[in-house]
Amino acid sequence: MGSVVLSIDAELAWGFHDFDRLPHARVAAARESWLDLLDLLDEFDVPATWAVVGHLLLDSCDGVHADHPTPEGWFDRDPGTDERRDGAWYGAKLVDAIEDADADHEVGSHTFSHVEMGHTSREVAAAEMREAVAVAEQRGLSVDSVVFPRNYVGHRDVLAAYGVSCYRGTRPRQWYDRTPLGAAAKLFGWPTETVSPVLVTPETDEYGLINVPASLYLFCFEGRPRSVVERVTEDPVVSMAKRGVDRAASEGGVFHMWLHPNNLTDERDFDRLRAILDHAATVRAETDLEIETMGQIAAAMTDDEPRPREPIGPR
Ligand SMILES: [Zn+2]
Repeated sequence: MGSVVLSIDAELAWGFHDFDRLPHARVAAARESWLDLLDLLDEFDVPATWAVVGHLLLDSCDGVHADHPTPEGWFDRDPGTDERRDGAWYGAKLVDAIEDADADHEVGSHTFSHVEMGHTSREVAAAEMREAVAVAEQRGLSVDSVVFPRNYVGHRDVLAAYGVSCYRGTRPRQWYDRTPLGAAAKLFGWPTETVSPVLVTPETDEYGLINVPASLYLFCFEGRPRSVVERVTEDPVVSMAKRGVDRAASEGGVFHMWLHPNNLTDERDFDRLRAILDHAATVRAETDLEIETMGQIAAAMTDDEPRPREPIGPR
């Protein structure tokens, strides 16, 4: 039986706070896009895994986070105010909206402050998970699923120690990534992700975590190449996603798509997602295909026992 999974990297300004400049247009539109995305998912009754930056579960903070062992300056852009004044840095109301939606979404984690887990110390990684779990528990949520910021997988043992059950791994490399076809595609700005749909097989890693790898980033094909191609043919990302959904339904396996709310800035971005969700919902109605959250995929592969917690460092 096949499954479609949709995961959403929900970060608002935190996705860019370590860059020299914030992309103001994307950040400014992100709250509205978040709510519009929830509406669209409700329209097709598609549940998603919302990997939310932990800081966004707060409605206010002191802006200092003195207990956090991140390098000097990491929280410099944190305004230390509240959601009403600085809505790009706090998102308690947006998390309410996820929980209030009709579709049965999962709230997962994207770490506490968007640290690249593949490029940080174990101490910082532990603090990121400790804070993420603490703010989730204050809302009565648990952290079952994690998406690594910028897909840099790291410190998986720390995730396991904090009771996480699954994460989104990177898209498996494909034959065309290493061939002249892949090289030519890259040369013309055509992402190799759209050469052929990738079905993935969730697997248990050495720490007991389930890896639910990515298949397709829905905004891998942007800018001028997208505009040129769209004039002559269907959006190649839509074609690829539809074929991935069809393959999951006919062959089994998991087709795992992902995006950020801030990818949705133009009408054509919503059109892309609407076409994909419409197709997935139609195939679900006509076949055995399921649309599941990462947590549901993991739960089906593990027993019902809650995972043991062995927190690292002070709580
Ligand atoms: Zn803060």
